[in-house]
Amino acid sequence: MTHRNVLIAGAGVAGPTLAYWLGRHGMQATVVERTPVLREGGQTVDLRGAGRVVARKMGLEHTLQAYATREEGIRFVNAVNRTEAAFGSGAFGGRGPIADLEILRADLSRVLYEAAHPHTEYLFGDEITHLSDTGKRVDVAFRNGPDRAFDLVVAADGARSRTRDLVFGDTTDLRPVGLTTAYFTISRRPSDGAWARWHNATQGRTATLRPDNRGTTRASLAYISPPRGDERLAPDAQKQLLRRLFAGVGWEVPRILTAMDTADDADTFTLPPYGF
Ligand SMILES: Cc1cc2nc3c(=O)[nH]c(=O)nc-3n(C[C@H](O)[C@H](O)[C@H](O)COP(=O)(O)OP(=O)(O)OC[C@H]3O[C@@H](n4cnc5c(N)ncnc54)[C@H](O)[C@@H]3O)c2cc1C
Repeated sequence: MTHRNVLIAGAGVAGPTLAYWLGRHGMQATVVERTPVLREGGQTVDLRGAGRVVARKMGLEHTLQAYATREEGIRFVNAVNRTEAAFGSGAFGGRGPIADLEILRADLSRVLYEAAHPHTEYLFGDEITHLSDTGKRVDVAFRNGPDRAFDLVVAADGARSRTRDLVFGDTTDLRPVGLTTAYFTISRRPSDGAWARWHNATQGRTATLRPDNRGTTRASLAYISPPRGDERLAPDAQKQLLRRLFAGVGWEVPRILTAMDTADDADTFTLPPYGF
């Protein structure tokens, strides 16, 4: 292997994972992350399939298990909270809606970040602004730090990667599917229990409540609509819109709408693709 000095854009999930493996194979990884600190946002993600295999090979499975939300499954409930269908975490041979290892994205990202840390240089609060491949090395200009040269540059800066655009032109080809979802964290009630609950209301509106590993409950409100840029509205306007769209919906939705106003992460949440 001739590549020794690798720059990775993005300290999300893929970036630190790659940095870890490069370190294991004797290469120096530098990860540049646009945000000033590791991003703590996000909701529950399931770890299964290839992701689980990689976590096991990194020796992280037990650490990640310790952060699991321990959801026992998901119930689809009607407006009076009666269960219409229930799927335990082992349903469909472990390929059902809830995996046996569900973890907050923030915990997953932090565990990966820490695993790579001993062999990785992290540059927070910076990003690549120019790349020039000489054939022997890549000359890189950063927004804040000094210019540097690397043997290889890898774009792991997410679905809307600017680094990829720097190399290939505008590659962002995200096709809106017409579903908008707001996520935020609310106080837990004993009735929230260890199961996720999902309520399908009329007119393409759904609400979910999921237990997390921090003594709080993760709420989501989703609705179907033509793409119209709701995610770019200011947080207050988003809340106003959600209150209007979900007015009159039963189940726990009035509680969710009330809690949304004081949710710790509500001032920064956006609608699609995820609540940050
Ligand atoms: C804050 C956040 C919350 C999320 N929440 C959920 C969730 O609840 N459920 C779910 O299923 N998926 C969620 N996702 C998406 C999911 O984590 C990713 O789609 C998936 O993990 C792929 O990981 P990734 O490393 O490719 O990208 P990401 O996890 O998206 O990480 C990309 C990283 O690159 C950074 N970045 C962006 N642009 C630049 C740049 N120009 N230079 C340097 N760094 C840059 C971002 O800040 C981010 O840290 C979330 C992503 C983020 C960033």
